[in-house]
Amino acid sequence: MPYTGKSTDRTPLERHRERERERELCRRCRTVLDGIRLPRPFSVAALCRQLSERRGRPLHLHMLPAEVATAGACGLWLATETDDHIFFERRTTRPHQDHIILHEIAHLLFDHHSAGARDGGALGGLLPDLDLRLVRRLLARTSYTTDQEREAEMLASLIRTEADRPAAPAASGVLGGLEAALGVDGTGEIPAAG
Ligand SMILES: [Zn+2]
Repeated sequence: MPYTGKSTDRTPLERHRERERERELCRRCRTVLDGIRLPRPFSVAALCRQLSERRGRPLHLHMLPAEVATAGACGLWLATETDDHIFFERRTTRPHQDHIILHEIAHLLFDHHSAGARDGGALGGLLPDLDLRLVRRLLARTSYTTDQEREAEMLASLIRTEADRPAAPAASGVLGGLEAALGVDGTGEIPAAG
């Protein structure tokens, strides 16, 4: 019988291995997620600011020029020696743009190296004035493995799920009530705007 790729065709052992891989993937993503603290209230821009500060590397967001986006790519993370740059598709919905950026942030958090990161000198001429030819070349060479793509996709979704979850009460009882009344979240931090 030819293999059709449907999960029903898999043997119990294959299904078991697939579930194991899935669990491993989930564990790796959870570990990375545990290592960061999501800004509250959450926004992708606030997360970028926080990551910039924590990593000591400015993280810049750029819209992909339409000419490049038509090549099929919708996002790109580019690391220079000092800065990180994330490019995202211009002509799509805001939620999709956010997802693209989170996906690229996930590549960054996992430290998935793309070929572009090695281009060193050539990148000097790329920013802030985009050399379209170079961006297109970098996109073509950005070849992550399937596992890396699955990691990025799952971590992006986990960040979104976590961000949408109401913040867990930091303290209960009198202190918690007091904090709630004062509008602080128990960490002593004043929520950042936007
Ligand atoms: Zn990707």
